[in-house]
Amino acid sequence: MTSKTFIAALLLALATAISTIAGAASRPAAAADRAMPRSVVQPRPAAGQPRAHPAVPAFEYAYAPPVSPGLQEIYWRVRDADLWQQLPEVHAIDGMFALPRRLRFVTAECGEFGAFYRPGDAEVVLCYETLRTLYERGVEHQQALGLGEDHPLRYVRANVRFIVLHETGHALVHLLDLPVTGRQEDAVDQLAGILMLRFAGLDETPEEVTGNLGLAANWMLSDSTGAYNLQAYADEHALAEQRFFNLQCLIYGTDPDGFAGMVAVGDLTAARAMVCPRDTRRVSRAWLRLLLPHLAPGYEAYGDEAARYLERSGREEQAAQVAG
Ligand SMILES: [Zn+2]
Repeated sequence: MTSKTFIAALLLALATAISTIAGAASRPAAAADRAMPRSVVQPRPAAGQPRAHPAVPAFEYAYAPPVSPGLQEIYWRVRDADLWQQLPEVHAIDGMFALPRRLRFVTAECGEFGAFYRPGDAEVVLCYETLRTLYERGVEHQQALGLGEDHPLRYVRANVRFIVLHETGHALVHLLDLPVTGRQEDAVDQLAGILMLRFAGLDETPEEVTGNLGLAANWMLSDSTGAYNLQAYADEHALAEQRFFNLQCLIYGTDPDGFAGMVAVGDLTAARAMVCPRDTRRVSRAWLRLLLPHLAPGYEAYGDEAARYLERSGREEQAAQVAG
């Protein structure tokens, strides 16, 4: 498997998804359509397998040893498991864009819970404290709901995927000088959601993909008290409940028929659900358009292909708007 194949798979997955969503407005969603994005996505190569295409500049991955004795075990675990290689979406976009400098991903002791992008060092930092808290929350979740033994690790992995993609979004906005109107926090949540929805290994079923995003949505709500002060209202992040519903809307928007149950159980209001297919389509098209001009040398052919999909889906969207 070459990384070029990855790029093709990712671009096609994004483009096909967009075309599928655009078409869904004017015709019933077909099972074949829903399966399509996944059918063009290939599994990633085994860890350690050399890349056929030189990614320039590639991402860099590191595990910084913590000072606190209490974090040593987490450090050993993530280093031995090579956590950065366990994130399929990050792996897929490694080398995809012509970045002005190398983007580094590092796990580190931060002194508090968090994950962030450091523009000065072009560095995405994932804190060991975050991994510890996520694991604890996964155990609570497992016990409260009587879930399987593997749930805590699954909870950690799903949330780490979302969190790291969110920070990668901040990095891409900074390094590629991408325009963003509105809150950047919302925009990069959307990118993380789209990448997780539209890129999955062949070993992941659609249910697992949406299940993972559901765990990320669960995490967003986990610290909410539902009572907010002025500081929360003024924050650069949307309120936890709003981030939750925004993510639910993105999921629902990819397949309103398939996810009709979300409205039935109250994970999404009927009024919001009505605009989700349109919003998901717009968000997907916007991110694709923002990123296409920055494809790394060697990926132009795939960019052309994605651009054709974009053009076609645009025409479909126009037609849907006239019809609707
Ligand atoms: Zn952020």
